[in-house]
Amino acid sequence: MVEVTLLGSAQDGGVPQVGCDCCVELEQRYPVSIGLIDAEGGKHLFEATRHLGDQLRIWGCSEVDSVFLTHAHIGHVDGLGLFGKETMAAKGVNLYCSKMMLDLIERTPHWSTLLSDGVFIPRVASVYQLPGVIVEAIEVPHRDELSDMHAYLIKAEKSLLFLPDHDTWQETLRGHDLRAWLNHLEVDIALIDGTFYSADELKHRDQSKVPHPPVEQTLQMLGERREGDGEVVFIHLNHTNPLCRDDTPVTELGWKVGKEGMSFSLD
Ligand SMILES: [Zn+2]
Ligand SMILES: [Zn+2]
Ligand SMILES: [Zn+2]
Repeated sequence: MVEVTLLGSAQDGGVPQVGCDCCVELEQRYPVSIGLIDAEGGKHLFEATRHLGDQLRIWGCSEVDSVFLTHAHIGHVDGLGLFGKETMAAKGVNLYCSKMMLDLIERTPHWSTLLSDGVFIPRVASVYQLPGVIVEAIEVPHRDELSDMHAYLIKAEKSLLFLPDHDTWQETLRGHDLRAWLNHLEVDIALIDGTFYSADELKHRDQSKVPHPPVEQTLQMLGERREGDGEVVFIHLNHTNPLCRDDTPVTELGWKVGKEGMSFSLD
């Protein structure tokens, strides 16, 4: 059985977000992460967040065979240290990431010791073969001050796209139509960037400095779910996103908003 479980549905800051009182009453959401179980029961974690302990509890496991990283922004990597000797004292965990991401890990003292101590074994490639599953890295444009960004396409009988962050559909699709792109990749389940609902959601900050395609625009591009369509699930929600309170604008069109514990069979 090949299965993916959603372990975190929020943007890097989680919900509630530190220093914010808009969201203290909202249900908790962890920074974005998924867990993949391959055909032989191997456990592969995507992103390493500071809520790893809670997330492994949701997943029902205590250790992982490998970690995939999409990019270096804080919520995707701030749990890497938890694999080290102060905490899990893991050994020989496969670390799948890009060359640029690995260079950053090697240059960052807190992380480079995880390599020299043998906690992680780096494996840089663009296609990874796991038992019964192929994982393909797809480069997408996203603020790259620290590293590049790769979405992952997880392919078994069914395919799941994990695209938590990107800047704009225009750049990611390079002029293609969203539905055509998903069809071309043969995606059955798309977990995609739903950071902001609208383009003017951050009242006290310049939103253009943290670009993400607004859910409103994505819904316009998708339209209503039709017979034969795959699933689209919005993840990486910012604490300001009204979908954290009410997911109707998405569900009434036949799509979904991610929540911790959702699972997707790829058989
Ligand atoms: Zn992020
Ligand atoms: Zn808030
Ligand atoms: Zn990011």
